[in-house]
Amino acid sequence: MSNATQLIHSIPVDPLTGAISVPIYQTSTFVQQAPGINQGYDYARTGNPTRAVLEDLIAKLENGAVGAAFGSGLAAIDAVVKLLSAGDEILAVDDIYGGAFRLFTQVYQKFGITVNFVDTTNAENVFEAITAKTKLIWIETPTNPTLKISDIEAIAKIAKANKCLLCVDNTFASPALQQPLSLGADIVVHSATKYLGGHSDLIAGLVVTKEKELGDKIKFLQNACGAILSPFDSWLVIRGIETLHLRIKQHCDSALIISRFLEKHPAVDKVYYPGLKSHPNHAIAAKQAKAFGGIVSFSLKQDTEEAATAFVTSTKLFKLAESLGGIKSLLSHPAQMTHKTIPAEKRRSAGVADSLIRLSIGLEETNDLVNDLKDAFTACKKILQPTKNKHKIEEYGTAC
Ligand SMILES: *Cc1c(COP(=O)(O)O)cnc(C)c1O
Repeated sequence: MSNATQLIHSIPVDPLTGAISVPIYQTSTFVQQAPGINQGYDYARTGNPTRAVLEDLIAKLENGAVGAAFGSGLAAIDAVVKLLSAGDEILAVDDIYGGAFRLFTQVYQKFGITVNFVDTTNAENVFEAITAKTKLIWIETPTNPTLKISDIEAIAKIAKANKCLLCVDNTFASPALQQPLSLGADIVVHSATKYLGGHSDLIAGLVVTKEKELGDKIKFLQNACGAILSPFDSWLVIRGIETLHLRIKQHCDSALIISRFLEKHPAVDKVYYPGLKSHPNHAIAAKQAKAFGGIVSFSLKQDTEEAATAFVTSTKLFKLAESLGGIKSLLSHPAQMTHKTIPAEKRRSAGVADSLIRLSIGLEETNDLVNDLKDAFTACKKILQPTKNKHKIEEYGTAC
């Protein structure tokens, strides 16, 4: 049976009524027959039947033992960090999601948990940076926004040999493309706000653990700290996941075509998409994922914030917004948006150029999206022209 069929039928029909859609249990508490005697639920922070369906579903999708749903992706990340103690160190991918960077450096550092950033695209770097204090290795693959790929299997081996946990933020790939736990990782986190929800209509986070024992610790933290996902939002994420495989296929197909279009455009400097042969980690991406995802980034030859601003305010279908993974195409300028909390020098050294633009390819017709980008290049032709190469102006003009 295919993954998509399995997925659709692993969402249970309601045993009480036969409802084909998962019921939303909008309740805070559950009546007990006698003190401590109940039907599996006592208080809705601790457990809720709608949330439980989502938690089982994501555990199945990620091939893990335990799933836990949180009020945001960052709350999910926060729960994983709380597995650590003062004095422990996190070894994290260098172009990490801005919110995770802020959480690690501005919240946990003051509780005595340190973080060291390395380029994890070379597993060797991870091996060399591990110290006796390192307890958690944190990777995103593909990363945000330069789509760097790290070898999950190789890093999992290093983690195991050094008794560290490996956590993979699988938000960009989604379990439809990549299952880190099957490649040796211990924990997967998701911002379900993105592809899993899939409709840009909620904020949610998920944690999945390979082993039950570690999952029980996450469940303890979920209840003890309380950052749970509501029943209604749990239901929305379930509904989003029902079409995940279909949506991801379309996102990936369009992203490949758009990345090839950008690669040929004279105003574009670099294109970042793991599906391109020119991507330095293309081979690893092809080995560990079924396809290459719906995010494409590119930088401009005119590498300034002004040029990027002109472009991101010129598209019509691509809406200027943070976030990704929804029905409608979005674009963003990381240097001024998602990555503005990362110091400019650190941002640049992680490969996020001043002009870097990130596209989240939506579900519109591919040609319409290509035309929208073409029109935007034309609209800001003047500012995108490399100032020194006057002779190139004409050539560029016709290419639009
Ligand atoms: C958006 C995002 C997060 C944070 O998730 P929220 O749901 O916004 O809290 C974490 N990691 C990645 C890779 C993301 O894109």
